[in-house]
Amino acid sequence: MAAQETVEHKYVYDFAEGNKDLKDLLGGKGANLAEMTNLGLPVPPGFTITTEACKAYLTTGREPDGLAAQIEAHLESLEREMGRKLGDPQDPLLVSVRSGAKFSMPGMMETVLNVGLNDRSVVGLSAQAGGNDRFAWDSYRRLIQMFGKTVCEVPGEEFEHALDDAKRAKGTQNDLDLDADDLRGLVDAYKKIFAKHTGREFPQEPREQLDLAIRAVFESWNAERAVVYRRQERIPADLGTAVNVVAMVFGNLGADSGTGVAFTRDPASGAQGIYGDYLANAQGEDVVAGIRNTVPLQELEQLDKKSYDELLDYMARLEEHYKDLCDIEFTIERGKLWMLQTRVGKRTAAAAFVIAGQLVDEGLIDLDEALHRVNGAQLAQLMFPRFQLDHEFQPVAKGIGASPGAASGKVVFTSARAVELAAEGESVILVRRETNPDDLSGMIAAKGILTSRGGKTSHAAVVARGMGKTCVSGADELDVNVPAKKFTVAGQTVNEGDVVSIDGTTGKVYLGEVPVMPSEVVQYFEGSLDPEHIDNPLVRAVHRIMTHADATRRLRVRTNADTGADAARARRFGAEGIGLCRTEHMFLGDRRELVERLILASTDEERQTALAALLPLQRDDFVEIFREMDGLPVTVRLIDPPLHEFLPPLEQLAVNVAVAQERGEDVAKEEALLAAVRRMHEENPMLGLRGVRLGLVIPGLFAMQVRAIAEAAVAVTRDGGSACPEIMVPLVGAVQELETVRAEAEKIIAEVVGDSGVEVLIGTMIEVPRAALTAGQIAEAAQFFSFGTNDLTQMGWGFSRDDVEGAFFWRYLELGIFGISPFESIDRDGVGRLVRIAADEGRAARPGLKLGVCGEHGGDPESVHFFHEVGLDYVSCSPFRVPVARLEAGRAVLTTTGSDSR
Ligand code: ADP
Ligand code: MG
Ligand code: MG
Repeated sequence: MAAQETVEHKYVYDFAEGNKDLKDLLGGKGANLAEMTNLGLPVPPGFTITTEACKAYLTTGREPDGLAAQIEAHLESLEREMGRKLGDPQDPLLVSVRSGAKFSMPGMMETVLNVGLNDRSVVGLSAQAGGNDRFAWDSYRRLIQMFGKTVCEVPGEEFEHALDDAKRAKGTQNDLDLDADDLRGLVDAYKKIFAKHTGREFPQEPREQLDLAIRAVFESWNAERAVVYRRQERIPADLGTAVNVVAMVFGNLGADSGTGVAFTRDPASGAQGIYGDYLANAQGEDVVAGIRNTVPLQELEQLDKKSYDELLDYMARLEEHYKDLCDIEFTIERGKLWMLQTRVGKRTAAAAFVIAGQLVDEGLIDLDEALHRVNGAQLAQLMFPRFQLDHEFQPVAKGIGASPGAASGKVVFTSARAVELAAEGESVILVRRETNPDDLSGMIAAKGILTSRGGKTSHAAVVARGMGKTCVSGADELDVNVPAKKFTVAGQTVNEGDVVSIDGTTGKVYLGEVPVMPSEVVQYFEGSLDPEHIDNPLVRAVHRIMTHADATRRLRVRTNADTGADAARARRFGAEGIGLCRTEHMFLGDRRELVERLILASTDEERQTALAALLPLQRDDFVEIFREMDGLPVTVRLIDPPLHEFLPPLEQLAVNVAVAQERGEDVAKEEALLAAVRRMHEENPMLGLRGVRLGLVIPGLFAMQVRAIAEAAVAVTRDGGSACPEIMVPLVGAVQELETVRAEAEKIIAEVVGDSGVEVLIGTMIEVPRAALTAGQIAEAAQFFSFGTNDLTQMGWGFSRDDVEGAFFWRYLELGIFGISPFESIDRDGVGRLVRIAADEGRAARPGLKLGVCGEHGGDPESVHFFHEVGLDYVSCSPFRVPVARLEAGRAVLTTTGSDSR
């Protein structure tokens, strides 16, 4: 027997046996209850059943061997400690049964309180409480209600209706006015409801109550809402939940009792102080259920000074111990304080920065730890303009913050109407129950998107994030009636054309136009707020942590910028060069005329004339950019898109020609253009005549651009500046392509540069899978590589970005085929592997080869960590993402050397 016990798996831990680092095994709640117990805080005794027991139960469908006996043993020792037996008719021990997974999962499974009460022990409980019948029957009715709802799936409203009936019969709104007899009657009503829905009587056997409740917690792990939540939050599906069994303490014993929640700092702003709510004469859930009005925690000082001071002392100790903001649940039973839960509290993005900064000041953590505790997604949030909500605005609904930002506009219900109104210059918010691929044009036209259904991976959410557009999804209080062009919410009707405001960060929806204010963090990055002299704790914290990130990171951060203005802004945001300067826009606007001449040229002479006219214009563009980026590298990509993109669309030309012919006008030019468009039409333009292919087919095109770049660099240098151009050839798949372009370019550069001292590098994008796989060869001809991960993703997966995001990504996300769009965050296993191969083989062939990435992944936090790991020299991203990339590049160093946690 004894020998057997030593090999038996340990499934149950007393609170005294655990600690905060055992979250995998004991769940967050259990691990922290153990930690508080060991710190000597007053936690009611209890034990935790491990996540492993849960996993075993879920795989086999029954409790694992030994679990029942271990629960029995721990229950007995709990009974000894409390001097009471579970459900004893004279003097009952009652317990709560509480779920608790490694990561907190709100709404997964509610707790069952007062387990152990039955028709007989309710009398004993009353005697225990000095003849307080009301308390005993109140506790019993709560047990039947919670047990019915969470263990036996009895619809919760039925209990609530019965409670309302009892209050109505008594002529009151307040549950405190119900006396012992009323509550006894309510218990009878509850039992009937229970029996009606379950086909059995409410279980009277205390141990059966306990076992059924434990089993229900195990099963709740696979409840649909839990599964959906985990998928959204990317929590692994196989962790299981722990179960905590805790001796009950009672906040509903009278005015000297109560229950509350507390935060050690303000989770909204991070400010120091006492934050929380307290409710006298109440049990657990009442505080959050909002049935009665809570009072601010400070008022507890008047009600019960001793408990208040003690609580403040514990709060300080917990902060000191966890070195972070803690949130706390507590109960006071007749003047005795009990701690029921703590954890490192959730906080807003602003509070995350402010608190990290404060903790450094207080000497509790160092700057590395502060950097570790904030992230790029939070920083990005702080850079969006925000609603200015100081006065009258109250949200009418709350959905999921699916894509951040603040947007106001007129409500429209169809994609067509969105397009129409937007064309008239109106800001519109597209409101749908759920969007589908047909809504795409409306989504593009709208300032924001609001849906009443769907989560973070719904069509609306995915597409909006892809477009960087504000979106609130799943605002289920909205009753959307598309045919009637209206929705109702909180008793009000909103018609087409009415104005609403949506906050894609918080998910809140407001009626009317809420004023927007610019982000202080952006003002700081732009240099209009001096961090040393400003009295804004957020800006000071951001400054401090960014400075540390810059000192820590190995990756350089450049920007994607095509104009002097973008370059200047990005430089203020901390960009250390340009990683991608697209030259396409230099062929647009009033230069179209020249481009058309270039395309229509039928002789070499005509072509050279058109190119010669473009040359000075391009040179001026480069001069401006090189000046702004003085002393920093600028990677210029030679023209990439297919040339027909610069011509008017086929339909438009056809109409023009027809109309002009009708009028008898001269249509020679239009006809020539139309013929060119027809000739150049491609079935798959993404895979057609573009990039280096264009340069090899159209004589003089790349040469003109190379000359413009070199001449601009020489001009800037002659003026006393310093230009460091890097010419990048797009879409190379074979080394021969690059060699051909390079040979011609080097001749031109040598001729232009002369003895000016300007140095021009020539390198290539790695964006075709074949280039990645032959990187060793290509490196022989390239002075640098820049990974074009957008195209590499398109071609690696074989789908076109423009078509697929709206068409099926939402479905792929729903099915879990990807956790996140591979355009948003690099697909480490596939596309990332191509990057790694190319980086390794490129560097093997040419030691010290400069490696970077352009494309939106360069500003994505997850991807930045990957590029750090692969050993790239820099990432490049849009100006607004530069601070995010700087921060994450710093964090990446800590993550690869230190510990990481979610
Ligand atoms: P959640 O994870 O939803 O917060 P909890 O397990 O913390 O659920 O329990 C819900 C409420 O019940 C909390 O307010 C908690 O303080 C209270 N509660 C839980 N266990 C006990 C207990 N043993 N005695 C008194 N109140 C309890
Ligand atoms: Mg809780
Ligand atoms: Mg490309």
